[in-house]
Amino acid sequence: MSPDLDIIDAICNAVERDRLVQTAVELVDIPSPTRSASQVADHLAHLLRDAGFEVSREAAGWPEAPAVVARMSTGRPGRTLQFNGHLDTVHLPFVPARVAEGKLHGSGASDMKGGLAAAVEAMRVLRDLDVLPGGGLLLTAHDLHEAPWGDGSQVEGLIDGGFIGDGVLLPEYLCDRLPVVGRGLALFETSVKRAGRPVHEVLGGSDQPSVIHAGAELLRKLRLLDQQLAGKTHPLAGRESLFVGQVHSGEIFNQAPIELALAGTRRWLPGTTFGDVQAQFNEILRQISDSEHVQVEGGLQLTRDAFEIAAEDPLVTSFQTAHGRVTSKTLPLGAKPFVDDGNCFVQRGGIPAITHGPNAVGAHTVDEVVPVDELLRVARVYALTALAFCGVEQS
Ligand SMILES: [Zn+2]
Repeated sequence: MSPDLDIIDAICNAVERDRLVQTAVELVDIPSPTRSASQVADHLAHLLRDAGFEVSREAAGWPEAPAVVARMSTGRPGRTLQFNGHLDTVHLPFVPARVAEGKLHGSGASDMKGGLAAAVEAMRVLRDLDVLPGGGLLLTAHDLHEAPWGDGSQVEGLIDGGFIGDGVLLPEYLCDRLPVVGRGLALFETSVKRAGRPVHEVLGGSDQPSVIHAGAELLRKLRLLDQQLAGKTHPLAGRESLFVGQVHSGEIFNQAPIELALAGTRRWLPGTTFGDVQAQFNEILRQISDSEHVQVEGGLQLTRDAFEIAAEDPLVTSFQTAHGRVTSKTLPLGAKPFVDDGNCFVQRGGIPAITHGPNAVGAHTVDEVVPVDELLRVARVYALTALAFCGVEQS
C-alpha cells in the first residue's frame, strides 16, 4: 500500500463519530435565530480554542454577534482551504437537539450546524494527524445569513476584511452534484399607483387611470422579457428568467382601486451583470408609467449575483478526488439550484467556492433531520479535500 493511501485511511479513521455528534448537538442546543447568534458564536469560539486552534472574533459590521475566525497553519508554503458556515437559523419555534436511530434532529441540524460541526471535525483530524503538506485551514462562522431577517452583510464584511482562503467549502445541504455555476437572483415588489382615492365606477371611477390595465400592460411586457430571456442559456444552469408569483389589486368589482402590487424574481447567468438586469427592468417600469399615466415604484433588490468556477480549478479537482475516495463516486458537475454565500465568495472575494453538505432534510421547517453517517462523510470529504488542495503552492 502506498503511503498516500495510508494517510487517506488514517484521515478517514480519525474522524470520531462521538466527538462530531457532540459538537453538532452543542451547536443545535443553543438557539440562534438570525440576528441572535452571539451565544452560539461564543460557544463555537470556545470549543475551537479548547481544540487548540487560533481563534479571533471579528465584528464584520455586526458587533452584536462577532463572527468566529479559526486558523491552523502548517507554517509551510501552500494554499489555505476555508470552511465557511452560518450559525443563524430561520425564525421558527426552537427544537432542541435529539439523536435517535442514527439521525440528528433539531433547529439548524440540516441548515447548517450539522455541516459546520463536520468542518470542525475535519480540522481536528488534520491537526491531530499533522498530515497537511503545506498551507493551512481557515474556518469562518457568522450570523445574518437567513433572509428576510438577515441581509448577508456579515459574510460580506468578512470577505471585505480579508478573512478568506484560496478556496472555500460551504456545508449547505446539497450533495447530488458539484455546483460549478449558479444563477444570480433579485426579487421585486413593484406597485402601480394612481393619485387620489378609491372611487365607485359610476361616480368617476371609470374616468381614472386604471392601475389594473396598467398592471396588465406591465405583465405583458414582463412576459415578453421572459420569452426573450429564454434564449439566454447555460448548459448546466439553464435559462435566465423573469417570474411573476403574485399580483393583487382591487377591493370590489365596481370600484376603481388606487394600487396594483406584483412580486416575483429575476434570475440571470454569469456574463450578465446585476446592473444590466436592473437597467432593463427599470426601463420597462418607466415605459409603463409614461404610457399609462400611473406611478410605478419598486425595482429589483439584489439577493446574490451569478457565479461560475472552472471545472479544472484546483478546488474542484481536489474536491472531486476527495469525494471519489470517500464515496467511490464522482459527482456530476451541475448548477446550484439556490443562491448562498458561495456566490458572494466567488464574486466579491474572487476565490472558488463549492457548496457541499450532508444529505439532510427539513431545512426551513421545524423538522430538520440529518443522518450522522452523512456528517461523518462530509468531515472525511472536507479533510481529504484539504489534503489535496493545501499542499500545492499558490500560483
Ligand atoms: Zn443555510
